[in-house]
Amino acid sequence: MPIHLVWFRNDLRIHDNLALAAACRNSKARVLALFIATPGQWRLHNMAPRQAWFIQQHVDMLQASLAAKGIPLRVLAAHDFAACAGVIKTYCADNDVDALFYNYQYELNERRRDAAVEKALGDKVLCQGFDDSVLLAPGSITTGNHAMYKVFTPFSKAFLHRLREETPMRLPAPQARESGAVKAPAHCRFDYPQQEVDAQLFPVGEMAALYRLRQFCRHAAKDYLAQRDFPALNGTSLLSAYLTVGVLSPRQCLHGLLAEHPGALEGDSGAVWLNQLIWREFYRHLLTYNPALCCHRSFIDWTEKVKWRNNAKALRAWQEGYTGYPIIDAAMRQLNATGWMHNRLRMVAASFLVKDLLIDWREGERYFISRLVDGDLAANNGGWQWSASTGTDASPWFRIFNPTTQGLRFDAQGDFIRYWVPELNVVPGKAVHEPWRWAEKNGYRLDYPRPIVEHKQARAAALAAYQAARKNK
Ligand code: FAD
Repeated sequence: MPIHLVWFRNDLRIHDNLALAAACRNSKARVLALFIATPGQWRLHNMAPRQAWFIQQHVDMLQASLAAKGIPLRVLAAHDFAACAGVIKTYCADNDVDALFYNYQYELNERRRDAAVEKALGDKVLCQGFDDSVLLAPGSITTGNHAMYKVFTPFSKAFLHRLREETPMRLPAPQARESGAVKAPAHCRFDYPQQEVDAQLFPVGEMAALYRLRQFCRHAAKDYLAQRDFPALNGTSLLSAYLTVGVLSPRQCLHGLLAEHPGALEGDSGAVWLNQLIWREFYRHLLTYNPALCCHRSFIDWTEKVKWRNNAKALRAWQEGYTGYPIIDAAMRQLNATGWMHNRLRMVAASFLVKDLLIDWREGERYFISRLVDGDLAANNGGWQWSASTGTDASPWFRIFNPTTQGLRFDAQGDFIRYWVPELNVVPGKAVHEPWRWAEKNGYRLDYPRPIVEHKQARAAALAAYQAARKNK
C-alpha cells in the first residue's frame, strides 16, 4: 500500500487544500500528515505571539479534523528551517513514505528549506508541490516581455483577464479514508511565546472563517467601497489572519464572492473587494520574482540612500501610541491590544513613521510582524514599501499623508480615536484631532502628549532627505 505524507505549513485546513486533496486522490494509499514547528526560525523573524497562538489553535483543530478522516497528524519540532530536512528524512524513513505532498511557500528561506528537503529525500520519496496559497501561480501573470509587473494596475488587469478565462476551482474536503477514523496523536505545544487572540476578532476554526466569509459576501461586500476606509465601521472582511495561516484559501474567497456577486470578475458589485485579493496576489508574485525583498531591500534602488534618523525615543513613542497625533496613537494601540490594524491606518501609521519621523521603514515592518496576528512577509513588506515610497506605489515619492487631515477624513467625529485613546474622551467632536489646541483654549490639562514633531517641518525634512538620496543615485 503506498504511503503518502502531507506536510502542512501555512495551509491549516482540510477544505480546498491542494496538497491534501492530491495525497488523498489514490483511495488505496495510506495518508499521513505532519506539521513541523520551527521556534528558532520564528524567533529570527520576530513572529507575533498572537500569530503563534493562532497557528497552535489551528494545528490542534486540524489534528482533530484529520483524525476524523482517518489521517493522523504528527506535530514535530525542528529548531529552524535548516533542521527540517533531517526531521522529514527520518520521519519518511521510519514510516516508509513513498510520496511527499506540500503547498508552496514563496519566501526565500522557505524555498531554500524545501529545496534542501527535496535534496535530502533524493529519489526515495517523490515530492510534489502545489500553488495553493494564490489564485494564480507566481510567474503566470507577466508583461509582454515575460517580466513581472512593477505596478499594480496593469497587473490587476492582466490578472482579471486570466481569472475570467480560467477561474480556479475550489475543492471539497477529502473523503474519510476507508480504514476509518484514527485517534488524534498527543497534543504538542510549541516552544514559543503565545498570546491569545480575541475570539470576537478572529474566532478559531475553518468553519468560523467560512461563516465569516459567507456573511461578509452576503451582507457587507456590496458596501465595501463606501465603508472600507473608516476604521470606526466594521466595513472590511476581517479575514486576513485566516488567509495568512491558510485556514482559508483565496479560491474559497473568490467563490464565496462570486456566489453572491456573480458580476465581480466583470467589474460589477464585489469587484472592489476582489481587487484587494489581487493586491495580496500582487505582493506574492512580486516577492517570488524579487527574492531581495525577503532580505528587506528596497524595491527602488535609489531609496536605499535615504539617510534615516536613528531616534529610539520617537520610535518608542510611535510603537506605544504616544506621538501626540491621535489617529496614529489610536491605530498603534489597536495593533498592540488586538494584533490587527485597519488597512487605512496601516497606511497612515506607516507613512507617519517613515515620512514624519524619518525612521527606516524596516523598523516599522519588523514591529508590525512582531505584533500582527495576520503578519505576512509579502503583504507587510509590500505595504511598508508602498507607504515609504521605496516600493511599487504608482504615486510620486513626495506625496505625504498629513496625519491630522487623515484623521479628520476617516474618523471625522473621532469615535475610533476616543475608543483607543480614552484620555481624549473629554475632547468633543472634531477637536479631538488637535487636542492640544482644545486644551489650550479651554485651560484644560490633558494627560496626553503634544505632537512629538510638527508635521509641516517634518514633511520638509523628509522631502529633503528623499531628494538628496535621489540626487546621489
Ligand atoms: P479586507 O479589506 O477585507 O481585504 C480582504 C483581503 O485582501 C485581506 O484579508 C488580505 O488578505 C487582502 N488584502 C487587502 N488589502 C491588502 C493589501 N493592501 N495588500 C495585500 N493584501 C491585501 N496584510 C496582511 O495580510 N498581512 C500583513 O502583514 C499586512 N501588513 C500590512 C502593512 C502595511 C504597512 C499596510 C499598508 C498593509 C498591510 N497589509 C497586510 C494589508 C492590509 O492592511 C490587510 O490585509 C487588511 O487590513 C486586512 O483586513 P481585512 O481582512 O479586513 O481586509
